Formats: sequence, C-alpha cells, structure tokens
Amino acid sequence: MSVRLLHHLVAAQAETRPEATALVMADQRMTYGALEAMSNRLARLLRAQGCREGDRVCLLLPKSLHALTAIQAVLKAGCVYVPMDPASPALRAARIVESCRPRVILITAATGRLMEEIAAESPAARAARIGLIGPQSWPGVHFEAAEALGLPESAPDVRRGPEDAAHILFTSGSTGLPKGVVITHANALSFVEWGVDYFGIGKADRLSGHPPLHFDLSTFDMFGSFRAGAELHLVAPELNLLPNKLAEFIRSSALTQWFSVPSVMSLMAKAGVIRDGDFPSLKRVLWCGEVLPTSSLIHWMRRLPHVRFTNLYGPTEATIASSYYTVPACPSDERAAIPIGRPCGGEDLLVLDEEMRPTPPGEVGDLYIAGVGLSPGYWQDPEKTRGVFLPHPFSPGRVYKTGDLARLGEDGLIHFVGRADSQIKSRGYRIELGEIEAALDALGILKEAAVVAVQSGGFDGATICCAYVPAEDHDLNPKDLRKALSRHLPAYMLPTRWAAYRMLPKNANGKIDRPRLKEDMSASPEKADA
Ligand code: AMP
Repeated sequence: MSVRLLHHLVAAQAETRPEATALVMADQRMTYGALEAMSNRLARLLRAQGCREGDRVCLLLPKSLHALTAIQAVLKAGCVYVPMDPASPALRAARIVESCRPRVILITAATGRLMEEIAAESPAARAARIGLIGPQSWPGVHFEAAEALGLPESAPDVRRGPEDAAHILFTSGSTGLPKGVVITHANALSFVEWGVDYFGIGKADRLSGHPPLHFDLSTFDMFGSFRAGAELHLVAPELNLLPNKLAEFIRSSALTQWFSVPSVMSLMAKAGVIRDGDFPSLKRVLWCGEVLPTSSLIHWMRRLPHVRFTNLYGPTEATIASSYYTVPACPSDERAAIPIGRPCGGEDLLVLDEEMRPTPPGEVGDLYIAGVGLSPGYWQDPEKTRGVFLPHPFSPGRVYKTGDLARLGEDGLIHFVGRADSQIKSRGYRIELGEIEAALDALGILKEAAVVAVQSGGFDGATICCAYVPAEDHDLNPKDLRKALSRHLPAYMLPTRWAAYRMLPKNANGKIDRPRLKEDMSASPEKADA
C-alpha cells in the first residue's frame, strides 16, 4: 500500500507481516496485526461518537500499548491527537483542553481523577465526550462499550491529506499559556523517511521508546519503528530517573537503538552504570533536545566502541529534528562542544544577522530553519505564528526563527551557541521562564517576582531560581510558595532555589536586573535552596 499518512505505516506492516511484534512494554506485546485491528475498531468507535475530520482528541493516557493504539486510532478516524502529560496539574491541563476544544478525551482509570479536576476547571472538557480505555476492558473499550460491539476491524473511510494536522504538541509559552504546535502528517513523515534511511533502521531493530508521548522525540521512536517494521520497546516512566534500571532495560531488551534527551545519558554516565563493551546488541545512540556535555559523551563512547553516536538538533516547531552530526571518533577534549552538524534531508539551517543576512563563518547569529519539517504554526494563534514563522529571505517559502544562537564553522558544520531569550531546558523539558513568572503573578501574594536559571553541575542542566518580594500582608516562605505554584505548574517547572528580597534589583532603565539576580543565586545557593 502507498504510505502518505502516518497511520499508513502500521497498515503497511500489518498487510505483509501481521505476526511481527510492533510494541513491547514490560510483559505485554502487541503484533502489527493486532495493533492495526484494534486501532481500526477504536477509530470506528471514535467516528460513532461524532468525531469528524480535523476534530481534536486529547489523550490523557500514561505511556502504554493502549496509548499507542489510541494514537493510531485517532489518526485513522481523521482526527488530530493531542497527547497530554498525565503528571500535569489540572489547571495547566485545563488550559490545553480549553485551547484545543476536543471532541473526545481518552482517559484510563489512572487518569480519571485528574480528568474530574480538569472538568471542574474547563467548560471545553465538560463538553467533550470522555472515553475510558484500559486493560480491564480491552479489546473492547469502556467508551460507550455497547456501541463498540459489532464494529468491523477495517479502517473507517476518511479523507485526510499529508498537509493535514496529525497532532498538536503543547509546549511552554512565555506569556503563561502553553503554545500548541501543529504538526502535519507530511512534517513528521518527512523526517521519519530520512531518519530510517540515514540510520539504516530495519525489521530486526529493537528501538527504545523513552520520552513521554507529549515530547516530539517520541514521534520518531514510534513512526520510525513502524516505518521500518521494527519493535518499539516502551520505557516505563518510573524507570526514568533510575540509571541502573535503564541500563538493565537496554541489556535485557537487547535494544539496537537508544534515543533520549541528553540529561538521561548524563545521568547514566554519572551513575557509572555502563560497563566496558556493555549492550552488545546496541548499534546506535541518538540524542536531541539540549546540549549533551562532551564529558558524558566520552564516558559512553569509551565504553561502547561498537556503537554509532549521533547528535540531533531541532525544535518542536520544525519536527522532529532539523540537523544531525554523527560523531566520527571519541572526542579527546571534554571542553569542545559537539556540533549540531548539517541539515537533515529536506531541511535547511541558516545563521543570519539582525538584517537577515548570512553571518560570515565563525560569527554568531540567529538560527533559522526552513524546509519540510516546518509546522504550519501555533494552534489558532496567527499572531504568535507570524512572529516567528517568517518569509524566507532568499527563496520562496518560510523560515522559523528558533531563538537559538549558532555559528557556522569553517568546516561547514553548525555549532549551537545558546539561547537569545529566556527559554531553558531542564531535564530535557523546554521551559519558558516567563510561564513561571506568569504563574507566580497569578498567585496574587507577591509584590514582585523574577525567575532566572543558573547552570547546575547536576544532570538536570539548569537550576530554576525565583527571587520574590512578598505582598505587604503576606508572610511567605519558599515551601508555601512552591506548594501554591505546584497547583499551576508541573513539577519540572517549579523553582528549586528561592530568595526573598525587600525590593528586586533594577538596572538603569528601571528593569529587573536579571544578570545581578543570576549572580546572587549562583553566589549563595545553599542559603536560598528550598
Ligand atoms: P523542543 O521544542 O523541546 O525540542 O526544544 C527545542 C530547543 O531545544 C531548541 O530550540 C534548542 O534550544 C534546544 N535543542 C534541541 N536540540 C538540541 C541539541 N542537539 N543541542 C543543543 N540544543 C538543542
């Protein structure tokens, strides 16, 4: 069959190799044939519940075989899946639901409580149909189960094209509202085709599924695996911060590919869980999402000389990655950063100055991306879209202004330099410090607050620090503030270093002196840590 849309990938495998294993998680396995049949049935059920082309379906589902089946089903029903973080506080999740106004929200027993809290906050959640999906009911679905009976195991007939939206990924927004990045079938498929070919992924591969489903990296694991007809081994979220268990997972699953954010690789390096010549089946390690410290890479490469290591770079807005660099040999200097390399197939990276002219090699400029991965824009936000998706300065089409600073090396490789704004990465999570400040402001108990990030020596990359001035009639301590904030923000966004001020320092223009706050926070961390 011809593959034009993401869900055609499983259908094509099911046609020729229905008995091959598609998904593995703990002691559960699912074949391509079963995945195809179950997702078809669920797709029909979604249609029977009123889902029509382009409708959004939110997935409030922990990573599981069911969640991946649901993703297939939503696409087959002609709809757009919106993966949500089951660990998110209800208030933030409610904003996402309000923004995308789903026809259906799929939940499991484990997320039922969160769903109730979201519904209390969001009229759009109350208007959506709720489908309970879970092991106790599979292969039927509690989702109006009676109507599921008798539904055929063939895909419903829907009209979707490659330029139609496949999913919306919500990422931190600097004004306090999460931003929805719309990803089309063509955006994701283009990278998948390039990646499967470049990495040589085939039927005999066993790939890791480490990132959560609301991270765009997970789409390469998933659709790359389906494209190749490989096995996808989903890593249970509870193993995330247990380096020993992660190493054991790679060993016992005999993985051939590991793909994660760098902080997870650093965590494993720091914990010393990789033995010399470990993971004999492993062929390649890929990372994306933030800088991998060269010292961590050296640690991995020294122990695993049989493995090929590739740095992938790219923002969600240019899914999945836009450039790559396969490290030719174990670096000798741990202070030399690893380049982000060259554009992936169909992509282009431009380093431009303020007038949108190319910067000479060696000089730092703004990094722009053009090409097949570029999202059509932010969900129902033309203004934000126009702000960063700009006309291409030299050819037809658009470029995306990443907010990253980079330089082109004499060697033709692109080197990542840092951010031009206050977006940070912590444990691989993309965080706008402005979103944290907006949430602090909304608490209504502070006169002033500012959030800065300082580099930590730990695996998480950056430490989020909050400087605050309590409102006059409030007697506050960091513990209370953290608790109040945790109702609005996920745990990974909560500041871990706090300092109370009588007045925040200001610069000559009267603006908050953030460099000074950073110095303060770096100078006396132990006093302020909460
Ligand atoms: P996200 O949308 O979560 O993928 O975050 C995108 C941002 O992560 C980019 O704009 C960069 O700032 C950063 N990033 C992604 N990949 C890399 C990489 N390989 N090296 C350095 N920074 C990266």
